[in-house]
Amino acid sequence: MADFNDPIFHDEDKAREHLEAIRWPHGPNCPHCGNVDQDTIAKVEGKKQSHRKGLYYCNECKGTFTVTVGSVMERSKVPLAKWVFAFHLFAASKKGMSAHQLHRMLGVTYKTAWFMAHRIREAMKEDVKSSGPLGGEGKIVEADETYIGKRETPRVSAQRKGRPYTKKGKSGGAQKRIVVGLVERGGKARMFHLNDATKATVREVLVRNADRNSTLYTDESRLYTETGTEYADHKTVKHSAKEYARREGDKVVHSNTIENVFSVFKRGMVGVYQHCGEAHLHRYLAEFDFRYNRRSALKVSDRERAEDAIRMAAGKRLMYAQSREARYA
Ligand SMILES: [Zn+2]
Repeated sequence: MADFNDPIFHDEDKAREHLEAIRWPHGPNCPHCGNVDQDTIAKVEGKKQSHRKGLYYCNECKGTFTVTVGSVMERSKVPLAKWVFAFHLFAASKKGMSAHQLHRMLGVTYKTAWFMAHRIREAMKEDVKSSGPLGGEGKIVEADETYIGKRETPRVSAQRKGRPYTKKGKSGGAQKRIVVGLVERGGKARMFHLNDATKATVREVLVRNADRNSTLYTDESRLYTETGTEYADHKTVKHSAKEYARREGDKVVHSNTIENVFSVFKRGMVGVYQHCGEAHLHRYLAEFDFRYNRRSALKVSDRERAEDAIRMAAGKRLMYAQSREARYA
């Protein structure tokens, strides 16, 4: 864990300097016009204490800004030291953190903690477009799906005259929430919440997120059969025949890596996902992906992970509904 005696967790000026150093390693950039020229950006300093601390003036667009403008912390009334502390807590807790825990640890209201938690998860969300697909030539991507929690709206079946759909012989998987996950062996993972797992929806996730030059490893589920042919190679293990791993030359065919990603997520979500609205599930997935992709096995420290999250908090625009929520946090 981080050293919680560090002044960045208690002192507003130190917290602000910490945020500025992470967001602006080469000096402040104007979030309004993109100006980076240090000669035309000035710190607003006056004798009067009427102005906000950490305020900058951009001579290019005549606008003012602080380090939180254009980030998930924008318009927040929560002290910056508490934000910094919260980012570190989320980065360091393997199983994540509930709004209740955050509320107790930060001494903010539950509602504020809830909004902070969701904004931190939003910050942790990877920009899939700019980071490109997983895998590639000579690389292995494992794909699998898992079922968690309970759907908010039961799935109905036309054959059953609009009554909830149940899968014969399966333990109500049809009424659970569906998560599809991909992981590059030795690399990054991405999990997605799907309303329905069909060949088409699963294909969409695969082709958008896993390079088709990769070798795909899955179980024998028919969801992957057709899409698998679009990949350089597709190997399956037959879980129904109790086959979990198979050696082929110098490679071992299995989907244990993605199952492990799912299991960390599920353990973290115990006691949380009943309360996690389906509309927010994608943010929890992003949070767990974020930590997995910066796992300690890759020699990423808690502090580096927290700094990454803070860096990624910038440039995440708040949507209208979220900015209305902002008054709570
Ligand atoms: Zn500007």
